[in-house]
Amino acid sequence: MTGVKMVFAHDTEVALTAAAALVNTAGSDGENLPDIPALDAFFRAYGWTGRHDHSQAELRSVRELRPRLRRIWHEDEDGVVEIVNGLLRESNALPQLTTHNDEPYHLHATSPDAPLATRMAVEAAMAFVDVVRSRELSRLRICEYPGCSNVVVDLSKNRSKRFCDAGCGNRAAVTAYRARKAAART
Ligand SMILES: [Zn+2]
Ligand SMILES: [Zn+2]
Repeated sequence: MTGVKMVFAHDTEVALTAAAALVNTAGSDGENLPDIPALDAFFRAYGWTGRHDHSQAELRSVRELRPRLRRIWHEDEDGVVEIVNGLLRESNALPQLTTHNDEPYHLHATSPDAPLATRMAVEAAMAFVDVVRSRELSRLRICEYPGCSNVVVDLSKNRSKRFCDAGCGNRAAVTAYRARKAAART
């Protein structure tokens, strides 16, 4: 990639985006991982590879990971470190540079045959390691749209992202547009 300076390494940004999306499947608008097909769709949408059991047990453990990850958005630095270290320890994470599907070398800290929820936990934890080390926890926010409590990862250069990816940015733009129109009429 030329000319595009990212805030974090590419794999970190992908993992942060996926972690936020996973947390937000238990979002303000209800359960978005209601069944195995929904998890399959999430798996594909976020480019997951490796073991995928398509089982109720897998679905349950992925769902159970969400409140734990969500806490990362609400804790201070010490609290985040405790959660992240806990996730890495429990999963026996072992960072290894690896390449597959013509991707550049990137870090994996679990084997592809580890359970999906374990790999999701470790991939997220490794990304949060980068966020903590770069002192960028302020990029983890809660959506500012009224009534929305979805999590946001601000990967913008100018730290301007205020709304989640579930449509709140558009909703806020429409609201602002209507307010401007109403103001212009008076
Ligand atoms: Zn990979
Ligand atoms: Zn939102």
